Amino acid sequence: MTIATVLHARKLCKTYPGGDTRHAVIDALDLDVAAGEIVAVIGRSGSGKSTLLNLAGQMDTPDAGCIRCDGIDTATWDDERRTRFRRRQVGFVFQAYNLLPTLTVRENIALPLELNGLPFAPRLDTIIDALDLGTLAARYPDQISGGEQQRAAIARALVHAPPLVIADEPTGNLDQETACEVIALFEHAVREAGAALLMATHSLEMVGHADRVLRLRHGRLVAANE
Ligand code: ADP
Ligand code: MG
Repeated sequence: MTIATVLHARKLCKTYPGGDTRHAVIDALDLDVAAGEIVAVIGRSGSGKSTLLNLAGQMDTPDAGCIRCDGIDTATWDDERRTRFRRRQVGFVFQAYNLLPTLTVRENIALPLELNGLPFAPRLDTIIDALDLGTLAARYPDQISGGEQQRAAIARALVHAPPLVIADEPTGNLDQETACEVIALFEHAVREAGAALLMATHSLEMVGHADRVLRLRHGRLVAANE
């Protein structure tokens, strides 16, 4: 059986307008992530991890290079078409959770199903149970802890079973014990779904759950021990 490549990037380049023009933030970067694989990206603050994740998750477009998600190249698409594609194909876990404050935990998690016109049952309750959020489902984000908000953000990223899950320092704001719990639930949910996970992290625990660890340096990815 051949394992599908969910994310395929070649010679990706990205420089921000007004940024340092001598060095591209992302500079001829190559990356493949397969279905079922967990890849961690490490690197100093400012090395371009979030930039790479935004490109991989179709939140932003590269200046040059080719990027395919689930076999599809969206380079020539307009923003609206790309947004629709991203909504369906990508689950994004933001560092700051980004839960909507006026929606309950359950409504936040249901949002990707609603936006994609997918049925709530049975996925919504399955993911709420998998991330142990049942007793919190009726609360609002400001009525739960940081670790609980992070679990809700992870549930929201996974609920519509996207082939690609992107997580930007998903345990960055958590204490170590909570981070360990969240990681275990996250890893289990991702593996169960057979999704590809690309995450930026500083956490040693998080790195320990990855199949591959890559370091972002001078705009490219190298093996973490290089
Ligand atoms: P990391 O996530 O590894 O900390 P980032 O991808 O956030 O790194 O940033 C990489 C570099 O790009 C930094 O030098 C940062 O200042 C710059 N940068 C990031 N976002 C923007 C932006 N929207 N406009 C201009 N420069 C940016
Ligand atoms: Mg970052």
